[in-house]
Amino acid sequence: MNEETLPAFEQAFGALRQFTRARRPTSRATEHCELCSAGLAQEHPHLVEITSRQILCACDACAMLFDGMERSKYKRVSRQAQYLPDFEMTDGQWENLLIPINMAFFYRSSIEGTVIALYPSPAGAVESLLPLEAWNEIAESNRALSRLLPDVEALLVNRVGHAHGIARAEYYIAPIDECYKLVGLIRSNWRGLSGGSEVWTEIGRFFSDLRLKAYVVSGEANA
Ligand SMILES: [Zn+2]
Ligand SMILES: [Zn+2]
Repeated sequence: MNEETLPAFEQAFGALRQFTRARRPTSRATEHCELCSAGLAQEHPHLVEITSRQILCACDACAMLFDGMERSKYKRVSRQAQYLPDFEMTDGQWENLLIPINMAFFYRSSIEGTVIALYPSPAGAVESLLPLEAWNEIAESNRALSRLLPDVEALLVNRVGHAHGIARAEYYIAPIDECYKLVGLIRSNWRGLSGGSEVWTEIGRFFSDLRLKAYVVSGEANA
């Protein structure tokens, strides 16, 4: 575990707590746009502050300002998720990425000019040093990765079921706020050493929800 990278991600967790709060049906507290303070509906756009990687809740008007804007402090996160049934990655290729668990997300950082690998942990998102050769090999055989929008979209990999022989590995191009939502629910539902049954129920629910709202992009495995 790369402990020294943890504090950088603490900033993103303020927003994550809002995700977990929003899941509780008893909580009716109105959220506010973090740019203009307008009240927000439960479903509202998110922005990423590029330098801090912080996720901000925004109203439609503020989100619109940053829609597709190339050089700005914030970028709007789209809601669209893509499920990639033809994604190609061997067990060996996955191992070469050196992710210590069977779940991770990868995104291009426009600030750092490289691909960042993160995986969820009970303490939040942990950055993993990504061997770029191993990543490039995967990117070469999966055209979908050339479409990844910097900062706002990630390749989200779930190989938990695959590792236990009960389900196939799942690959998505997911909005980055969804990836942090997964991190947040793991962080807030983790109990004891192994996580407990509740966290695995939540993880299962997260991926079945994502699968339902994602559109399927198939037939493009090899470029
Ligand atoms: Zn606003
Ligand atoms: Zn929000």
